[in-house]
Amino acid sequence: MATRLQLLRYPFSREARQAMQRVARDLGTLINIVEAQEGNYVIREATERVYAALNQEEIVTVNTNDDRDFLIYSTARLIVEKLGDNRLKEYQAEAESKAVNKHLGNESDDFVMHLCRTSFDWDVERVGGSTKKSALPDYLQRFDFQMSFINFLEIAPRFHADEWKLVNRIVERGKVPVRGSELRRLISEKFKILILNSTLSVPTLPRNLSLAVQQIESDLKVKLKRSEPIKFTEKTVTAFPPCITAMHQTALEGKNLSHHARFTLASFLLKIGMSEDEVLGIFKSAPDFVRGLAEYQVRHIASKSGGEGYTPPACRNLRGNGLCPVYQGTTFDPLCEYIVHPLGFYETRAWEISKGVKSHSWYAQKRKKLQSF
Ligand code: SF4
Repeated sequence: MATRLQLLRYPFSREARQAMQRVARDLGTLINIVEAQEGNYVIREATERVYAALNQEEIVTVNTNDDRDFLIYSTARLIVEKLGDNRLKEYQAEAESKAVNKHLGNESDDFVMHLCRTSFDWDVERVGGSTKKSALPDYLQRFDFQMSFINFLEIAPRFHADEWKLVNRIVERGKVPVRGSELRRLISEKFKILILNSTLSVPTLPRNLSLAVQQIESDLKVKLKRSEPIKFTEKTVTAFPPCITAMHQTALEGKNLSHHARFTLASFLLKIGMSEDEVLGIFKSAPDFVRGLAEYQVRHIASKSGGEGYTPPACRNLRGNGLCPVYQGTTFDPLCEYIVHPLGFYETRAWEISKGVKSHSWYAQKRKKLQSF
């Protein structure tokens, strides 16, 4: 049996949903409660919760012994769905999932198993079942739980570290042993997926909630403007170095790129600020395009080092792999002699374009040649 605080901390759990429904049995009732004077409390706390996500701050569980606390999470979700901005939804899913992962660290193993079973119908038990841990073989003793490999595979492929690959795990009679911290991570990731995949059909909102939504919308615009992915315009393409131009052209012509070229192009485009969807769009005409695989690869490249992403290879590496058209003598750009990395080229050329600098004679006055062809 979950405590009140646990119900508030794990809003995806069956018991939490039941608790919420006891206060507001459906969306219509929720809207009615929020619209009334007493609903301002819920709006204020839900708004705080959305802002915490937007600002990548910790989500604080509001627990004041007031039943309206059970409506805060749902109202925060409602606000984000109303705004219909995918990036805000991602911020929310990430922040909510992080909060859950943190709280789970303080929960007992029994509660964690209970949560898995009742919320997601996962087949999870203590490692070795009823056998005492000390009586288990050594290789199993470092694990805390075992779960159905089907449930494991529902989430684990989203993580890129090798230890999450099923080929690197022990599987016995359809069960994968997992450590406590791993199971908690799987739960919080599952919650994240639930948020990302959920769609609410949002009814007309009452005035007080609409005002809160409008305020968040305007703050969201300011925030996202700062981190806006670049728009793929003609100017952006014009600033590409010759190697990237060639790869980009090949991809757009629907021809296959080598693995190395694909990695270079994807990591370059992600680094200069293109979204994962835009990058996928460039590869989709290739004859060997397989959506699931391409999505996995692009996500993997983008998420390296906690979201910083892989850096594309330097000129020297590209030369060695036959991907530098200047070295091969099929094209020439004087800027290539003054940089050692395609990103260095892009940065300088984008600056020239933005300032309307057409003559490249300044290279020789200001810079030292770093490579010659
Ligand atoms: S020198 Fe570097 S930036 Fe220029 S085309 Fe070759 S690899 Fe690309």
